[in-house]
Amino acid sequence: MALSFGLLRRSGRIGSLILRSRFHHSDALSKETPIGFVGLGNMGGHMAKNLIRSGYSLIVHDLNADSVADLKNSGASSASSPADVAQQTSCIITMLPQSDHVKAVYTGDGGIFKSVKDGTLLIDSSTIEPGVSKQMAQLAKEKGADFFDAPVSGGVGAARDAKLTFMVGGGEDHFPVVKDLLALMGKSVVHCGPNGTGQAAKICNNMLLGISMIGTAEAMNLGVRLGLDPKLLASIVNTSSGRCWSSDTYNPCPGVMEGVPSSNNYDGGFGAALMRKDLGLAQSAASDLNTTTPLGKHALELYTNMCSSDLAKKDFSVVYKYLQEQ
Ligand code: NAD
Repeated sequence: MALSFGLLRRSGRIGSLILRSRFHHSDALSKETPIGFVGLGNMGGHMAKNLIRSGYSLIVHDLNADSVADLKNSGASSASSPADVAQQTSCIITMLPQSDHVKAVYTGDGGIFKSVKDGTLLIDSSTIEPGVSKQMAQLAKEKGADFFDAPVSGGVGAARDAKLTFMVGGGEDHFPVVKDLLALMGKSVVHCGPNGTGQAAKICNNMLLGISMIGTAEAMNLGVRLGLDPKLLASIVNTSSGRCWSSDTYNPCPGVMEGVPSSNNYDGGFGAALMRKDLGLAQSAASDLNTTTPLGKHALELYTNMCSSDLAKKDFSVVYKYLQEQ
């Protein structure tokens, strides 16, 4: 990689040079050979637009016609199926809700593996079971393609502002190429190890986040009932040993902080249903590996109960309100 990433990026030739040196058949990422993007939802739509902003042409696909139309307005062209995307590109990013969607997009009738070209770079940024990522990587290998799991941390705002953190699992040899590409959509790209380890890092982080959010909500709720002013309690916790991200950056008690979902009727942010999903992935992995995660288990039960109400649509810090109302 003789030329710097910044220079290549400015010249609009990132990837065509780098990828040629790494992938036998790939001249992806030049304007002539677009990047494929499947899954243009809350996250993927912004990520795809950031690639367009960086000067790359995109071929997109989604089941939702409105999302495709939105990307077409931003300059993308569309494909009729994931297989159609794979036919036209040698670099594809997917951003889908769950494991089953990823399996459908890669292995389904009109799936990527139906027409993927030898040497294609496949990056899946969905949060899914590590085992499914490993399966997709194996199937990709059989087709001569390279698969990476690259789930993200950071919500819709970080996707919009290209400030995501990517946790990447896959072959070390090709990681520099993947890193340069993902850096167009994020602020940090970390190689975690072989396929599946990106997902492992993501679900461990989010299990801890769910637990710490419940803990912060419990402590704030008890403190308020004991007669403490919530702002005062938060300021004490945040300069004491109870401090954590949920208490000092994303406090779940309304009115303690400005600009967080708890002070906006728990709207925006990271949905409780998504937290429930990630806690479920962590429990499924823990049970497969006979690993004791008692607080993760309780966190999943609590979020599952909470998500059976309208609160599922609110930010995950709404657990404060849920506990308050119990
Ligand atoms: P979303 O539901 O908004 O978007 C998913 C998109 O995939 C939709 O547009 C849907 O139509 C499309 N899709 C589903 N099945 C498809 C198929 N077979 N073919 C083509 N398109 C299909 O989801 P999101 O919020 O963008 O999240 C995507 C992933 O990112 C999830 O795995 C989620 O856990 C993870 N994530 C989300 C956030 C967040 O704050 N939203 C944060 C971090 C990670």
